[in-house]
Amino acid sequence: MNLDDKRLYESMENILRADFACDPASAEPRELYNALSKAVMSAFYHEWKNGRDAQKKRCAYFSAEFLMGRSIFANLLNLGYYDAAKRVLALVGKDLNDFEEVEDAALGNGGLGRLAACYLESAATMGIPLDGYGIRYRYGLFRQTFVDGYQHEEGDDWLKWGDPWSVRCDRDAVIVEFADQKVKAVPYDMPVFGYRNGVVNNLRLWSSEPVQEFDFTAFNDMKGDRTALENFNATKICDVLYPNDNTMMGKILRLRQQYFLVSASLQDVVRKYKAQGKKWKDLDKSYCFQLNDTHPVIAIPELLRLLRKEGMDFEEAFAVCAKVFNFTNHTIMAEALEKWDALALSDLLPEVYEEIVACQHRLESEGLDPDKYYIIRDNVIHMANLAIYVSAKVNGVAEIHTNILKRDVFKNWYELYPKKFVNVTNGITPRRWLLLNNPALAALIDSKIGTQWHTDLSLLAGLKPFIGEILPDFKRIKGENKAKLAAYIREHEGVEIPPEFIFDVQVKRLHEYKRQMLNALSILYFYFGVKEGSIKDFPPTAFIFGAKAAPGYYNAKAIIKFINEIAKLVNSDPEASKVMRVVFVQNYNVSYAEKIVCAADVSEQISMAGMEASGTGNMKFMLNGTVTLGTLDGANVEICEEAGIENNYIFGATVEKAEAIKRFYCPREIVEQDPALKRAVETLVDGTFSDETGMLEKLHESLLSGHEPDRYLVCFDFRSYIETKERLLRSFGTDEYYEKCLLNLCAAGKFSADRSVMDYARHIWKIK
Ligand SMILES: *Cc1c(COP(=O)(O)O)cnc(C)c1O
Repeated sequence: MNLDDKRLYESMENILRADFACDPASAEPRELYNALSKAVMSAFYHEWKNGRDAQKKRCAYFSAEFLMGRSIFANLLNLGYYDAAKRVLALVGKDLNDFEEVEDAALGNGGLGRLAACYLESAATMGIPLDGYGIRYRYGLFRQTFVDGYQHEEGDDWLKWGDPWSVRCDRDAVIVEFADQKVKAVPYDMPVFGYRNGVVNNLRLWSSEPVQEFDFTAFNDMKGDRTALENFNATKICDVLYPNDNTMMGKILRLRQQYFLVSASLQDVVRKYKAQGKKWKDLDKSYCFQLNDTHPVIAIPELLRLLRKEGMDFEEAFAVCAKVFNFTNHTIMAEALEKWDALALSDLLPEVYEEIVACQHRLESEGLDPDKYYIIRDNVIHMANLAIYVSAKVNGVAEIHTNILKRDVFKNWYELYPKKFVNVTNGITPRRWLLLNNPALAALIDSKIGTQWHTDLSLLAGLKPFIGEILPDFKRIKGENKAKLAAYIREHEGVEIPPEFIFDVQVKRLHEYKRQMLNALSILYFYFGVKEGSIKDFPPTAFIFGAKAAPGYYNAKAIIKFINEIAKLVNSDPEASKVMRVVFVQNYNVSYAEKIVCAADVSEQISMAGMEASGTGNMKFMLNGTVTLGTLDGANVEICEEAGIENNYIFGATVEKAEAIKRFYCPREIVEQDPALKRAVETLVDGTFSDETGMLEKLHESLLSGHEPDRYLVCFDFRSYIETKERLLRSFGTDEYYEKCLLNLCAAGKFSADRSVMDYARHIWKIK
């Protein structure tokens, strides 16, 4: 399909007239945005709706989260219409940048949801038939602001400008039944465009609605209470995304969401499969399902139930399920592995519960040690165990993470099924995370090695011989990106960051295991050192943070307050602010990430070793030519393997060391023996900062006292971190430093989501 400027303009003009009763010259940005989006959508209608080949095996990716971000720029880029759209808007004196106000589709919390989004784009680009299935939350991840340094949450009204990138498909609506409730699931389809290859895959997001329209007669007859309540309950299921990252909230509404998603999605697949007239036992030849974490694992008993309704006995149905399901584990943290109360689940979904019980019985009948192998125990259902027992493949998301699963978290299961466990290291799409967010750097690479790397990232290795040549341009581009970010931060956060400062960045969800605290304490250490004169010629550095804390996660919110107080202290100090600035940007999301990642000089990936399953933020920075300051955790390990450990800044305890230390760890001792660390830690309680809530005191407590003080070894790793960080900051600006940046860029090939998706297709989905 070739949409030239003229046809694009005319198509927009028609849509503006019909939908908004205006023309391009008089249209508001919101109207133009809708018209441009719809014009592009209609141009690709055929590729989208007729593109599926019924003969080909497909994979359905079930995920409670898809963190898509803004679609318009990425879609225009993939379709090759970015410049055409610019030209057409320019005709009426408008600019693509006017669409910067479009809200992100933030239907996810962080890495897990963003991974799903990257995989959809990469699959389309690689021509892999992957269908996304998720929930169309009315409100996505909350919008974050700071008031007096404390996090405040507001509803995320992502549909404010409309949702021109999806289409409601009433004809495919299905009914989802709970014991106490029946709701209609209506799909909204969103096209996923491959990069300039004509492939359009699909993301289907379900919205819950009442089965019957609101009944006014009944309402007027005073019988309306029940109807009104049912309607209210039906829409409530999809009201809001649970804002917890890496923790499970045992709420029944969350279970309703999960079942709503998988029941609707499986009905959709079953209907399509039935239409092909094939046998149920051959389902695996046409479909497989990737379960993104435990959130959609209830799909397993649901498919068992559906297959039994189709006439299969349990063993036959089990055999099918054991071939079609695959499970991705994303974390080793106990608080994130989902467990449901058996009574609550059987109340809500009695038939589904029966299938889970049947799985437990089948497992018991295998004569294994019941203390090692169970799905239901003490009236608790362990969703990860259910997933492992029934799935064909179980994968971790980085080498180190998969190894920890094998030798620790799922040791027993690994001994039983060694071949089930595989690794697929996460990846990111280079289209959004280099071509789109850093066009100048992408063009510089093009000028040396051509454009093939856009869809084969391993070719970046070919840039190595040109490092010396491109170094000055690389510096210039980084400088321009930094100036842009500084201007954006000035406007949106009211903080001045000199662009010539080192930009030292930590952006990701706020979590104790990610150790924003370690970074915060290091800033205080540098601050006091600079003030006292014990640190001389400190290289001017801006410490940039971005992170949302789950609204119920007290310590995480306290860390935000702490860092905001540090920012106030440092930025208002006439001496220190000459060489230090601190800013915590509000409402970190995909669009903010795009601006930050291309402007960073240092990528902070400082989780306690063993805790970050993979990380994908680390890959975004690497791909944009940034060195990592990090621990040997998650994909950092593979980043060092690819780019050379000598080209990154690695510190701290290894997994093995961390495990050993934790057995007799006393952070108080470390703090007592380190006056500089002690001074930084004591600011939490010595009146340096104002905090009427007492949350800073609680932070102090969690570091030094209580049941498991300093659970994530902040104090233990402090000195090693400081030493490495200071060495990194002092090397900034040298040719050697920039060479390291570029060597990382050249070695980023492995971390393309294209490679990840091809790994899944070959080793798990068995799709050619
Ligand atoms: C990539 C990304 C993440 C994941 O970051 P990690 O550092 O891997 O935790 C989280 N949020 C957003 C908005 C992202 O773009």
